[in-house]
Formats: sequence, structure tokens, C-alpha cells
Amino acid sequence: MTTELTTRDWHARAAALKYATGHFIDGAHVDARGGGRFTVVNPATLAPLCEVAAGTAADIDRAVASGRRAFASGVWRRMAPRDRLAVLSRYAQLIGANAERFALLDTLTMGKPIRDMLAIDVPSAVQTFTYFAELCDKVDGAVTATASDAFHYILREPLGVVGCIVPWNYPLLMASWKVAPALAAGNSVVLKPAEQSPLSALLMAELFIEAGGPPGVFNVVNGHGEATGKPLALHGDVNKIAFTGSTEVGKMMLVYAGQSNLKRVSLECGGKSPQIFLADLEDLDRAVNYAISGIFGNMGEVCNAGSRLLVDKPIAEAFVARFVELGRDAYRPGDPLDPSTNLGPLVTAGHRARVVSYIERGRKDGARVEFGGDAPALPGSYVNPTLFSGVDNRMTIAREEIFGPVAAAITVNGLEEAIRIANDSIYGLAASIWTRDLRTAHTAVRDLEAGVIWVNCFDHGDMTQPFGGYKQSGQGRDKCLESLLSYTQTKSAWVHLG
Ligand code: NAD
Repeated sequence: MTTELTTRDWHARAAALKYATGHFIDGAHVDARGGGRFTVVNPATLAPLCEVAAGTAADIDRAVASGRRAFASGVWRRMAPRDRLAVLSRYAQLIGANAERFALLDTLTMGKPIRDMLAIDVPSAVQTFTYFAELCDKVDGAVTATASDAFHYILREPLGVVGCIVPWNYPLLMASWKVAPALAAGNSVVLKPAEQSPLSALLMAELFIEAGGPPGVFNVVNGHGEATGKPLALHGDVNKIAFTGSTEVGKMMLVYAGQSNLKRVSLECGGKSPQIFLADLEDLDRAVNYAISGIFGNMGEVCNAGSRLLVDKPIAEAFVARFVELGRDAYRPGDPLDPSTNLGPLVTAGHRARVVSYIERGRKDGARVEFGGDAPALPGSYVNPTLFSGVDNRMTIAREEIFGPVAAAITVNGLEEAIRIANDSIYGLAASIWTRDLRTAHTAVRDLEAGVIWVNCFDHGDMTQPFGGYKQSGQGRDKCLESLLSYTQTKSAWVHLG
């Protein structure tokens, strides 16, 4: 059993692992047109891992043309929905059956603990494809209430070729959140993974063929943002860009759409999610434990990380003291291939430098480091989990997305001030409220400006939950039926009977 493997076993498997490093176009692994390659580095060692095909506009053209041919042929979009459902269900099972390979590929490229890959990312990707597979034959058009001289019906059709551009923090899972609904709706896909974590996408595309998916329906082009993502987002024959990544790059997607063919754009961007802990919360330790995992899990490289802890004055001191006791050693940096490790390296040395500079900025601005604030003596791009107390919401560490294991505790005076400070952010991805009072909880749900609100928990959910942001955290929703519909368009047919 995978779960019983030792660190040594995982290293042996990593060393023996075979994987593709090109693009995947028209059902086959191919090299970049110009032959270019770039180096992918293992963040746990900072040693080069492999060389991967560097996509250019020529590769994007080839992949989009392949997707368009498949779409025009009708081989996927006109397949009986029940048959599409069967392919995607088989595909979900194949992803699960390849859990170990997916786990290794993402762990080796972006540093996530292997146990998180096996416990969270892979099962969640399987759930994603299962959920959207099941929707294939359950999304209907409509007949509307017209006068008797007309018959009006509404068809729901796929868009065409969808470009998916995704980040490195959950490489398999973020790709799944885009690719699954796009495919279930009958579209063709061109996926551009993050340059830091390109390998699992190639395995995804390969397994789609094994599941019975037609060639050309699911293509992958690797490469950097400017060289590869930009020509995809600017492409005149792409009907939608489904983007997950930073707010800064998300804004560019809207520009590219405007500069090209007015393609649809959905954006899942950054966050600075507040967690409000009121004095009447029921169980301090439970709340503190959620606060700890909400910011240190996945090395804090989580879009909805609970990075701002807004703690009610009467419990502020006790909360911070308990966070120090329970949180200081809860996440220990270690080899991500060790099944007991729960904190891997940050994705790159450059990202570590960025996180460290935020920690320095927090110190300079007068916040107090309760623990962490430095890097462990390990060869990879690690940062120790860090708690700042005495933070003011105007400080940079409370305003900008750090995307690392850095928590900022801010003392607030009651619900009203907590909500005002929570909403004082350009972001609005997620928030939580911890209270025993029903009225307080619902008031917070009403007044918090975020796409997801958790009450007395954090980061809970399933596939029925719309996931996405208010304000500059994005537009559009992943997961849920709404997501599937966003990969379709309606066609109105008005039949004259008079
Ligand atoms: P990023 O914006 O730098 O990159 C995301 C993707 O966009 C990558 O594939 C990258 O190559 C590509 N890209 C970069 N520049 C581009 C350009 N000019 N044209 C086209 N494509 C371009 O983000 P990142 O550092 O990879 O990921 C971290 C960010 O992702 C964080 O801000 C995080 O909050 C966000 N994120 C959001 C969600 C969500 O659901 N809201 C989920 C995960 C991550």
C-alpha cells in the first residue's frame, strides 16, 4: 500500500519514475516546434530535475488547431452525453489508479508533502472529474412560455476551444477544476500548466486518451507565462480563457481578451482571507487549530489561506498564546518525500526570497514575531512557519498576498470593527467567522465581502460549493454546476407557427 511506503521507498520510486517532458498535442507527446527547453528545479534540493519543452506561439497554434479540428468534427461535443459521462468516469478512476505517479510528479516539482498529494490533491481531482462526469447528461436546455403562434426553445452548447492557464500550488487539482467542467460541457481544451510544475498535466492528458477520450480534445502546451500563456490568451480561435493565478496576471487576461477576439474570461485570483475569532467562540483550541492549518497547510501557498487572524480583544492574548503553544511545532519543515513531513519547501528559491522579504517588512513595520521568521538549515527553499502579532491592517503584511506560511494576528473590538477590517482589502476570496451566536454568524455572512464564508470552521467544502472571489479575487466560480454552465453558451431558437 502506498500509505505504508517509507521515505527510502519514495526516493527509490522517484528515481525510477518515467515521465513525459514535451507537449501533448493531438493525442501524442511532441517536442516544441523550435526545439526549446527549460529547466525544472526540485525545490526540496534546488537541483535540476528535468528539461521540459518550452512552448511558443507556434506550439499554441498547433494545439489550438488540434482542439478546433476535434471540436468541428463533433467527435466529443456530439458524443451521446451518456457516453461522454462513461469516458470521464473511467478517466476519474484512472487518475485515482495513478495516484502514486501524480503524487510524485507534483511533489518533485513544487515541493508539496507527498502525504498531502495522496490525502488531498489526488482524491480531490478524482472527485472533481467524477462530479462533472455525472453532470454530462443532466444539463438541459429549456422550452419557454411563448404565445401559441411560436415555439421557443433554448439550447445549451459548448463554447469551442477553451484555454486553461493554471498555477503551481495545486498543479493537478487546479487543472482539474478547469479541465473537468470544460470537457464535460463538450469543449476542446488547451491546458498551459505553470512552468514550475509542468509534469502532472502531461500525465493527465495521456490518461484521457487511455480512458477513451478522442485525440485533440485535451492538449497540453508547456512553457512560461509571456512566451506560452500570452499567445494562448491572445489567440483568435480560443473561445474562453479559464485562469487561476495572481490578480496581477488575471488582469492581463482581460486585456488580452479585449485585444483579440473578446473571448470569455473566468478568473480565480489571489486572496488575503480574514478569519474572525469573536470572544464568544465555543472552543478556543479548536479555533486555534483551524487557524494554524488554515495558514501553514500547503506551506501557506493557498489562494484562500487564512492569513489575517482578526481576534476579539477579550481573547486576543489567550489566542496568540495558544497559537504559539499549538502552532510552533505543528508544521515541521522536512523532506516532502518523507510521509511524515507536513511542511515542504516553497516552490522556488525566488519565491522564498519574496516571502522572507515580507517577513522583514513585517518586522520593520513594528509587528512582533511570535515564532519563526527565519529559514531552517535545509538545502531546499524552506521558510519556517511564522506568526506575527500586534499587526495593524494597514501594514504590508496584512494587505499583500504573501503566499507563504506567515500569519498576521490583528486585535479587533467586536463584530462591527472585525467586519470593517475584514472588508478593508482589495481581495474577497474567503472569510470565516467563529462565534456561538446565531445572529452574529448570519450577520457576518451577510456583511463579509467574500465568495466563500465559513462559520465555525475553515476550508470545509465539497464539489457542490461554488468557489471563487468577490472584488479582485476574481470573477466566475470553480466547482459546482455554475462552473459547468460557464463553459457553455445558450442558443435561442424561435420557431414561427402562426
Ligand atoms: P501567476 O499569476 O504568476 O501564474 C499563473 C499562471 O499564469 C502560470 O501558468 C503562468 O505561467 C501564467 N502566466 C504568467 N504570466 C502570464 C502572461 N503574461 N500571460 C499568460 N499567462 C501568464 O500565479 P502563480 O504564482 O503561478 O500562482 C499563485 C497565485 O495563484 C496566487 O496569487 C494565488 O492566490 C492564485 N491562486 C488562486 C486560486 C483561486 O482559486 N482563486 C487558486 C490557486 C492559486
